[in-house]
Amino acid sequence: MTRLLVMSDLDGTLLDHYSYDFSSALEAMKRLEALQIPLVLNSSKTFPEMLQIRKAINNTCPFVVENGAALYVPAQQGGREIFECVIFGLTRRDILAAMHEIESRHQFEYQAFSRMSVAQLVATTGLGADQAQYALSRQYTEPLLWKDSSEHLAEFTAMCNKAGISVIRGGRFVHLSGAADKSDCMGWLREFYGKRYGRTPAIIALGDSENDVPMLLNADYAVQVKSPVKQFPDISHPRLTRTTEIGPLGWNNSLLHLLDEIEAKRQKKIMNIQ
Ligand SMILES: [Mg+2]
Repeated sequence: MTRLLVMSDLDGTLLDHYSYDFSSALEAMKRLEALQIPLVLNSSKTFPEMLQIRKAINNTCPFVVENGAALYVPAQQGGREIFECVIFGLTRRDILAAMHEIESRHQFEYQAFSRMSVAQLVATTGLGADQAQYALSRQYTEPLLWKDSSEHLAEFTAMCNKAGISVIRGGRFVHLSGAADKSDCMGWLREFYGKRYGRTPAIIALGDSENDVPMLLNADYAVQVKSPVKQFPDISHPRLTRTTEIGPLGWNNSLLHLLDEIEAKRQKKIMNIQ
């Protein structure tokens, strides 16, 4: 078998957009396991959320959190699992330091999540207790409740960008993060598995959204998984598959097909050499 690595988004890709179910992807996941092809999860979720999902799908590979901000590589120590963390973005502490520095020069009207308790967050933002807890557990993003004008937001954004911080506006909230995306981990992983295999693996990447595009473009095989709520983001890639089925079923069928195709090509190459 050709040396491969599969990298996948979760929501709307391996997990159903509505129910988070992954049962229709089990066949392809079993095939990966049988072929000893690593499945690296790459999501906007946080470290504790990723731990839960990994456990649910019985995955022991490295994984990427918070939209490419950090990669966690598992290792065994004294019978328990520990993680080496490789940071590609900025830690929340770095982001807060830059934010405080900006605050010392300019006053903008906003409430930083890091200054609020779960109860305060629920009261001021209208988020549910779970969502509030989740927002506070982020390690590489600082969300703000923006209360100032959009002109001031543009000014604030420019100051953040100057300090190496991306500002993403989502409704009432503004998210500050480092400039990493889902593709930043790929060079590191190619080298990591390349050492292990003695050969750099080809990467098959699967995703459904705009934030998956850098990862898809940087992969050897790109799979766009069909979403029930939006169009495929427009990308151009020499080995691009767009799934016919939605979510995990599309994930499953396209991956099985691709693995067969790659193996058939390899067999043909061997025949030609002989
Ligand atoms: Mg997604």
